[in-house]
Amino acid sequence: MAETKKLKITFASGAGTVTGANFLLEGEGKKFLIDCGLVQNSKLADEDNWDPWIYDPKTIDILFITHAHIDHIGRIPKLIHDGFAGRIISTEATHDLARPMLLDTVNILSRDKEHGLDAFYNEATVEKAMSLWEGVPYHQEINIDHGFRVTLKDAGHILGSAMVHFVYNGKTIVFTGDLGNSPSPLLRDTETLVGADYVIMESVYGDRNHEHRDERRKIFETIIEDNYKRGGTLIIPTFSLERTQELLFEINYLVEGKRIPQMPIYLDSPLAIKLTGVYRKHLECYNEAAQKQIAGGDDVFMFPGLKITPDTEDSKEILHAPDPKIIIAGSGMSNGGRIIHHEHYYLPNPNNTLLLTGYQSQGTMGRKIEDGAKTVRIFGEDVEVRAHIAKISGYSGHKDSDGLINFVENFANSAKRVFVVMGEPKSSLFLVQRLRDYLGVDAIAPMAGDVIEIEC
Ligand SMILES: [Zn+2]
Repeated sequence: MAETKKLKITFASGAGTVTGANFLLEGEGKKFLIDCGLVQNSKLADEDNWDPWIYDPKTIDILFITHAHIDHIGRIPKLIHDGFAGRIISTEATHDLARPMLLDTVNILSRDKEHGLDAFYNEATVEKAMSLWEGVPYHQEINIDHGFRVTLKDAGHILGSAMVHFVYNGKTIVFTGDLGNSPSPLLRDTETLVGADYVIMESVYGDRNHEHRDERRKIFETIIEDNYKRGGTLIIPTFSLERTQELLFEINYLVEGKRIPQMPIYLDSPLAIKLTGVYRKHLECYNEAAQKQIAGGDDVFMFPGLKITPDTEDSKEILHAPDPKIIIAGSGMSNGGRIIHHEHYYLPNPNNTLLLTGYQSQGTMGRKIEDGAKTVRIFGEDVEVRAHIAKISGYSGHKDSDGLINFVENFANSAKRVFVVMGEPKSSLFLVQRLRDYLGVDAIAPMAGDVIEIEC
């Protein structure tokens, strides 16, 4: 029997809250970070993001990135500015998505002179990060000395998303990142984890289940048809990464299968347009059915009626286009981006529809609309909400409570401890209780700043 060794995990942030994933794993004189995300509550970036680190970035050997969402990569420019010069490792798709994601955030945050963000949240630090960044295929062993063997496993959350799988002294430690709501229309299912010893897992939906996932496509179809019959505009505030491509894939199916009438469908988001280009390059991340469909000659993100409007002038023209029509634009929680202009114009008309397809955080305009606000404040004006408000929860990118339990069930026998993070406290604690009660697993929900030793 090998001698027992110790590793230390620091839950720097992303514990007791959904966003700002940032975990430190230390042992054998090596320091690995897993994710370096922005803390995002009602704003793109909370002030806490610019506080000093609780570790010295200069001493970090490798930063592993689970996926390209900003709450997992958005603090990299600060890390670089504060002296990090190690390797950055992710899948190839995450590497390719990260640049447009970070540059889009640079566009917004570099204007924040009040917090001095322009000094480091700029193109130069993003390019420095990209120069340190290596893309590796899933399952390929990453060469690291000192007894660590590391591979990336498919998390099924967004294109390129991965769990970081460490083996050290015969023990397995896994950081899940975000876990996908498998099956997804496009992606492969989350890989089954067996024989894991320590797992640091997300819990966004730890206390809730998604409704009507099996009927999500049918519900989407009905919402589009109802709006068409009213002769209105259907506006869909959506996340540029994954949800947009998922919706395009679904509309492609509905249009080409002649299940919905043909009408103009605007993809009105420069970032989503760029990211869709990255999706076209990474077919290796798709599930078998999607790969087959593409091999059969179908461009799954292109169909009759689709209009792409990267330029502001084309975007403004949409307002003059005849109804019925559909507009897809960011941001997903209506707290910025072109969707605001469309909401300003289309919300007061009862023939129109606003469709929510994702999580809306407290404090965002999307949440106010979801909660039934009769008026919202846009560009300093009170705007009446008279459009139909529709919602589909089945397109969530995260496993729900039952999905998370099923995920842990596969390694419940070997699990020494499960750390439940990346969720609101209510959600994380509920999941902890379920894991203990249903699976008999030693589960805890650490708080930000906690440092915990594990035996390997
Ligand atoms: Zn994510």
